[in-house]
Amino acid sequence: MAIDILQHLDEMTRWSEEERRRGHTLGFVPTMGYFHEGHLSLIRLAREACERVVVSIFVNPTQFGPREDFDRYPRDLGRDRRLAEEAGADLVFVPTVDAMYPEGFRTLVSVRRFSEVLCGAQRPGHFDGVATVVLKLVNLVRPDVMFLGEKDYQQAVLLRRMMTDLNTGVKVLLGPTVREADGLAMSSRNAYLSGAERDAAGILYRALRAAAKLVASGETRAHAVVAEVRGVIREAALAQVEYVSVVDPETLEEVAALHEPVVVALAARVGNSRLIDNIICVPGRTPRAPGGQER
Ligand code: AMP
Repeated sequence: MAIDILQHLDEMTRWSEEERRRGHTLGFVPTMGYFHEGHLSLIRLAREACERVVVSIFVNPTQFGPREDFDRYPRDLGRDRRLAEEAGADLVFVPTVDAMYPEGFRTLVSVRRFSEVLCGAQRPGHFDGVATVVLKLVNLVRPDVMFLGEKDYQQAVLLRRMMTDLNTGVKVLLGPTVREADGLAMSSRNAYLSGAERDAAGILYRALRAAAKLVASGETRAHAVVAEVRGVIREAALAQVEYVSVVDPETLEEVAALHEPVVVALAARVGNSRLIDNIICVPGRTPRAPGGQER
């Protein structure tokens, strides 16, 4: 029998109350659907750590800008349900936009500064939309642990901060970025790429790995690291950098001189698609290749 899909908010709350009454721990994986291995790896993590696993699928209109891809964002609930079940989810929560934002809705949650830097500078209002919807989802699901991907590093740091600041009691665990064979970070938005764009998109992770190597070999100047990333990406005519930043992993503050681990984060346009990625760079330490081998 296929796992349940719940749409109504009060059904979700009742299910969760019942599971907690039974003493089960609850893991939660919020998503926008159109699953790939990145999503499924988080569901598997949740399965290992918790007795019950809820996955939400909600393409949240308030986190998309007016000229962004809300209408064409890929959706396939039938496939997502099957994949979620195979990965170990117990329930898929798929609220409607009308239920989440009924007439009269007015509240916005903002995690100040974290919402304004990096992708926030390019996408005004985006992270307020994310924070607000995730707080709503957490209030409905009432999980013990929420699982987020390192792929969206800024989002993960921001949501962890919000969970702490607002005393939700929800623990946040991060899963590593799952990548394609050429290193491209998996993303539902990769579905937009043409063949040539898909080939070009592999340059983003190659550029980040070049940065990590440079840092490992002793480069401590952030501007040199940024120049390296930009230089590598320039080789691919179809990819246009939006930003490359070297930031502190906790505060997301720009770092000028590297003496501690940093996150090198970037956004780039490949064709019409906006792709993001990041890598943690440790001064004097060779980066790990996907799969854990040094290369
Ligand atoms: P999304 O459906 O894109 O909103 O993503 C839902 C969750 O999956 C977020 O916590 C993302 O960070 C995470 N995620 C997306 N892509 C990946 C990936 N390639 N590897 C690991 N986690 C990911």
